[in-house]
Amino acid sequence: MSGVTLRNVTKTFGAVKVIKGVDIEIGEGEFCVFVGPSGCGKSTLLRMIAGLEETTGGDIEIGGRRVNDLDPKDRGAAMVFQTYALYPHMDVARNMGFGLRMNGWPKDEVDRRVQEAARILQLEPYLDRKPKALSGGQRQRVAIGRAIVRDPEVFLFDEPLSNLDAELRVATRLEIAKLHGTLGNSTMVYVTHDQVEAMTLADKIVVLRDGRVEQVGPPMELYRNPANLFVAGFIGSPK
Ligand code: ADP
Ligand code: MG
Repeated sequence: MSGVTLRNVTKTFGAVKVIKGVDIEIGEGEFCVFVGPSGCGKSTLLRMIAGLEETTGGDIEIGGRRVNDLDPKDRGAAMVFQTYALYPHMDVARNMGFGLRMNGWPKDEVDRRVQEAARILQLEPYLDRKPKALSGGQRQRVAIGRAIVRDPEVFLFDEPLSNLDAELRVATRLEIAKLHGTLGNSTMVYVTHDQVEAMTLADKIVVLRDGRVEQVGPPMELYRNPANLFVAGFIGSPK
């Protein structure tokens, strides 16, 4: 059991409540997409699941275990950021292995996992290159590789395609879909404000609006039966 459950989750920054009581159930192996306009709280929710942001109220469970008080590295979840956040002075292999090395993993095991991730992502020819010698799509794959080496139960993606041009966006989107197949029962939580990404990747879409869940369901169900005009506006017209 490695799904993710959010129960009445809230988040307050200063005096401002930005997450207003969110309940979400994500099954093991499910590809769940959070969609909603800029500022609705998508990144904040993801960061709370990852443990990068403290939860003000409610419970977050990963694999049936309450993780509110656990360190990010102990939650079984790994995050892939929009901006890649690669270290410019490290080559691809060291970038991918960095987190494991910092956590004291033995070099052999780090190398083995980096090799395996590079194979999955077809990055083997680039392992000794620095990030500046890579294309945007390759950099994003390195960022994904950094999550894969941790062998997480749950992958968290925060708008991973938004810095790529249109063509690369399609290619990388297909690659992420393939990755979900390759990694079997890994659970994916994927944030985007792009309807096409949501419709094509998701088993289940969570539509968010102003810190609340507006509607949850499989893409076609939301497309056919949007609960209101807001959802219809978001999901109803895939390009
Ligand atoms: P999204 O990812 O959907 O665009 P965010 O989760 O980034 O939305 O932000 C949700 C709301 O919380 C926004 O109003 C944003 O300004 C606010 N917010 C996010 N992070 C912080 C922070 N560290 N301090 C104060 N307000 C924040
Ligand atoms: Mg965001």
